[in-house]
Amino acid sequence: MWLLIFINLAGKIAAAIVGPTEPAVALALWFVPDGLAAYHLFVLRAQGIVAMHRRFVTAGREVWLTIDDGPDPQDTPRILELLAAHGARATFFVIGEKVAAHPGLVRAIVAAGHEVAHHTQTHPLASFWCATPARIGRELDEGLATLAAEGVRPTRFRPPAGLKNLWLRGALSTRGLICVAWSARGLESRYGDADSVIRRTTQHLSPGAILLMHEGQRVPPAIRVHAIAGVLERLHQTGYRCVVPTPEQLPSPARWFQLVGAGAL
Ligand SMILES: [Zn+2]
Repeated sequence: MWLLIFINLAGKIAAAIVGPTEPAVALALWFVPDGLAAYHLFVLRAQGIVAMHRRFVTAGREVWLTIDDGPDPQDTPRILELLAAHGARATFFVIGEKVAAHPGLVRAIVAAGHEVAHHTQTHPLASFWCATPARIGRELDEGLATLAAEGVRPTRFRPPAGLKNLWLRGALSTRGLICVAWSARGLESRYGDADSVIRRTTQHLSPGAILLMHEGQRVPPAIRVHAIAGVLERLHQTGYRCVVPTPEQLPSPARWFQLVGAGAL
């Protein structure tokens, strides 16, 4: 993070110095560091700001089903029934405000043997990438407090839409949270039918995949819950089990600073 900030500031200063004589060079010095920072903020596989797990280690035919943006009073109970029918385990990345609005749902998720993880308190999709350290801290702490009231202490966090923030790495580590992304997602809001979402989510399945799906009102009615049902059925047909990885199956991220490289953690 600090290296990105340093490169950016150095680029701006150098651009100001050479600008009067070398305007083309100054333009590059000004904007290239911005592009580098944007890459690490917005591209999921970029690991320079905060390491995000995109797969898990397994020797079996296993995938990790993760369901974001709940809990939802209509969808969560139906999803729990589907998971039980398939003998599947999943992780629910929940939004604190929704947890507080629908008390009891998180306890039902845990009672059914699934994991509850942190997906911010308010899901600030548009502003998360540029939020101040104080705002990031509030999103994390308020979400933790909301979940604590339901008897849950999460260890895993997923930012809205997988967006990163310059202050996220430190904020997560001081709170004992790791960052989890995904290797496949259905993009429910882009498609009008469940089949497209199911196909997209399962088209490149391999052991250790992390699948991202959504619940709640923002999912189109034709897709809501149906896509999760279809993915579970497809996984069953192809012999995959849905598991929740242990910490050992999510090995520590690489320690080197990946400025331009990509990781598959
Ligand atoms: Zn979300």
